[in-house]
Amino acid sequence: MAVARFWRENASRYNLIGSRCGVCGRIYFPPRSVCPTCHRRSIGKMEPFKLKGEGEVITFSIVHDAPSQLEMQKPYVIAIIKMDEGVNITAQVIDIDPTDVHIGLRVRATLRKISDEGAAGVINYGYKFMPL
Ligand SMILES: [Zn+2]
Repeated sequence: MAVARFWRENASRYNLIGSRCGVCGRIYFPPRSVCPTCHRRSIGKMEPFKLKGEGEVITFSIVHDAPSQLEMQKPYVIAIIKMDEGVNITAQVIDIDPTDVHIGLRVRATLRKISDEGAAGVINYGYKFMPL
């Protein structure tokens, strides 16, 4: 992956910045440069849009077979979270007993270390969600 793209995507991920279509108002995360509904009419009208970082669990699964870098954390919960702005994000839910996670649980995004691996020992950060 090109360095510029790497940093652009990470800046978006770190800051929960998606995009909002200036034509129809739909919000996308990750950001898009063209609205899939408005197509050409949206070119040049997509604006950065920062998600508030709160939403609710719409579906989840408890993972017992973790990959080795997550070995210390298992079992852990991966959920699809519907953000208040209407977009869905798949992420880990932390700071809760996995058996207490349920559909409708209100959660808030928090920036956490994901792993120490990756190119040149880069530490990867990303969003996880914790109960509100
Ligand atoms: Zn649109």
